[in-house]
Amino acid sequence: DPRIHGIKSQIRVVPDFPKPGIMFQDITTLLLDPKAFKDTIDLFVERYKGKNISVVAGIEARGFVFGAPIAWAIGAKFVPLRKPRKLPGKVYKEEYILEYGSDCLEMHVGAVEPGERTLVVDDLIATGGTLCAAMNLLERAEAEVVECACVIELPDLKGRERLNGKPLYVLVESH
Ligand code: IMP
Repeated sequence: DPRIHGIKSQIRVVPDFPKPGIMFQDITTLLLDPKAFKDTIDLFVERYKGKNISVVAGIEARGFVFGAPIAWAIGAKFVPLRKPRKLPGKVYKEEYILEYGSDCLEMHVGAVEPGERTLVVDDLIATGGTLCAAMNLLERAEAEVVECACVIELPDLKGRERLNGKPLYVLVESH
């Protein structure tokens, strides 16, 4: 798709952020280009509209930026998967291991009904740990995860292999 090139060209790569050796993929520059931002959302909407998806679950915080407009456009509800102690209601909680230390995602109990067809959205997949935790949350609510969608994949980290065979759709690969 010719739109992919424009999207990729608006993602800024920042060396040594947040620490030495990391090539940080910065999507804030993509958001500054209304055409590239719209193309990004359009590509996801074209893929998921009419697929009977009733839930888009977005991962804090950049998953909200992409997930919410996708949900709006396909007529699904948006469910935020948040960092700990942000959600006021009763929550499911999933802790997961990072390279240094651990992190955690929470989802409101009752946000998703059993059997609901769900799309999980984030900006980027690296090791896959975050998406894996997100899928575990949805599984605990007995939702059906149809697919995970990210703008960017770092394929060298093989995060895809941690998704237990669940399909992953990405727009851009970065090596
Ligand atoms: P994973 O759990 O290792 O797959 O890391 C993915 C999570 O870390 C996502 O929520 C991303 O937003 C974040 N992340 C990791 N690396 C980058 C990056 O280079 N740019 C933006 N976000 C990143």
